[in-house]
Amino acid sequence: MAHLFDLSNRVAVVTGGNGGIGLGMAEALAGAGCALSVWGRNAAKNAAAVDRLTRLGARAEAQVCDVTSGDSVEAAFAATLARFGRVDGLFANAGVTGANPGPFIDRKADDWKGVMAANLDGVVKTFQVAARHMIERARAGDPFGRLIATSSVASIEGAAYNEHYGAAKGAVNSLVRALAVELARHGITVNTILPGWIETDMTASALQNEKFLSNVTPRIPMRRFGQPADFGGIALYLMSTASAYHTGQALVIDGGYSIY
Ligand code: NDP
Repeated sequence: MAHLFDLSNRVAVVTGGNGGIGLGMAEALAGAGCALSVWGRNAAKNAAAVDRLTRLGARAEAQVCDVTSGDSVEAAFAATLARFGRVDGLFANAGVTGANPGPFIDRKADDWKGVMAANLDGVVKTFQVAARHMIERARAGDPFGRLIATSSVASIEGAAYNEHYGAAKGAVNSLVRALAVELARHGITVNTILPGWIETDMTASALQNEKFLSNVTPRIPMRRFGQPADFGGIALYLMSTASAYHTGQALVIDGGYSIY
């Protein structure tokens, strides 16, 4: 019997996999033998990520893709299929921070649209192409699929002054529950990961702010910010057969921040 966490016959796409949390997940998947396609807009970051994953012994490639564009997502998916022949799991992890945080009454329509496009529409578009492929495979007698979105604890806390980001991530949580019900009969599980405060490019400027650090650190029971590598275990679990009966759930990874 193959080990529960053996992914040597699996192929995963990680959007936003060229850095931060996405690369932390991709590295753990690579360590379990999974082939990887990392998608991001920046070709140089993509190439550096492929280099890191290849050095871990993985079959890895990258696609330049903007998840806010349906055409770009379709093209990246087709290219990934051409390279690996199948996609077993898609981690819809690409996202952007809330643009211009500030009072709701001053929220500009363009900031709202941009945050929704990257954090919500990007998940919809990537899940849709992957689900079509997984359903086709299930109909051909190979029912297995994993759809995983990176949401945020901002979706369950009162994300004041950042309501556009919180609303986009809250919609992702609802999308995941709906798809979990709809896609279960095809052998596809759908789950979401809710990170707390994690040290990545997205939070770099906040983490250099002494006032912010002294406010937030005491609110994290583990007294540290998360690292991309803290997402390796959950990625492995959700991609593997170990999570076969686990669907429609939001998994919080925040050092205890949201329950404190
Ligand atoms: P990073 O800024 O390090 O990574 C974001 C990734 O998304 C990059 O790889 C970026 O690549 C990619 N990306 C952004 N926009 C697009 C787009 N339109 N199309 C394709 N790729 C895109 O941030 P994190 O690793 O922190 O963020 C990963 C996820 O985790 C996000 O969804 C974020 O909202 C979520 N999150 C992060 C938290 C944190 O504290 N860091 C907390 C809660 C949730 P490129 O620039 O090449 O396009």
